[in-house]
Amino acid sequence: MGNYHQHLIFGYLVALVTGVIGYFLLGFDLIYCIIACMLGTFAAILPDLDHDQSTPLKEVFNVAAAIVPFVIITAMMERGFTDMVYLTAIFGGAYLFIRIIAIFMFKRLTTHRGMFHSVPALIIVGQIIYLMYFGNDFKVRLFLAIAGALGFLSHLVLDEVSSVDFTGGKVSKNKFFGTALDFHSKSMFATGFTYVLMLGFFCLIFMKHAGLI
Ligand SMILES: [Zn+2]
Repeated sequence: MGNYHQHLIFGYLVALVTGVIGYFLLGFDLIYCIIACMLGTFAAILPDLDHDQSTPLKEVFNVAAAIVPFVIITAMMERGFTDMVYLTAIFGGAYLFIRIIAIFMFKRLTTHRGMFHSVPALIIVGQIIYLMYFGNDFKVRLFLAIAGALGFLSHLVLDEVSSVDFTGGKVSKNKFFGTALDFHSKSMFATGFTYVLMLGFFCLIFMKHAGLI
């Protein structure tokens, strides 16, 4: 399996190629190509989040603990909530929830090389980017979603390739061979949960296009 830095570099190269193709061949604005490059690079380190001791896991939860409470508070204030005691309690609660409960649940739900290293997870990453894009340009939306999915794919491919040892002309497979580009994991719960999530996101995309959300 590739390590964190190998994934980051390989993901960046794939994302850079995606951005360059987007700019020179597909004619997207430079800003979208830069965003595509960033999304692809970030997506390339996502699969190893399921590694309990992984660097990206700590980074993502630290960033989430810093940002999510602010997003919640801002959204509530925009809707007219001004009670500072109430808002402070929500802020603290959200912070502690992410730092302690969410990270604990995440570690329990995932095993390394489980559903996070799967094709459905790749599709989910693309779906989330697709749904989060705020603009109205369908092509840009699709481009960014594909850029993210390609970054994620670069991780799976690198893991798969590096699970084969090319030593002394002999090719041997290690125990992780064939687990990177997978459609299911040993855990029925994790597999079911991932597919339900993927179908849920497909429904949301359908509803978005039907003008329901
Ligand atoms: Zn991996």
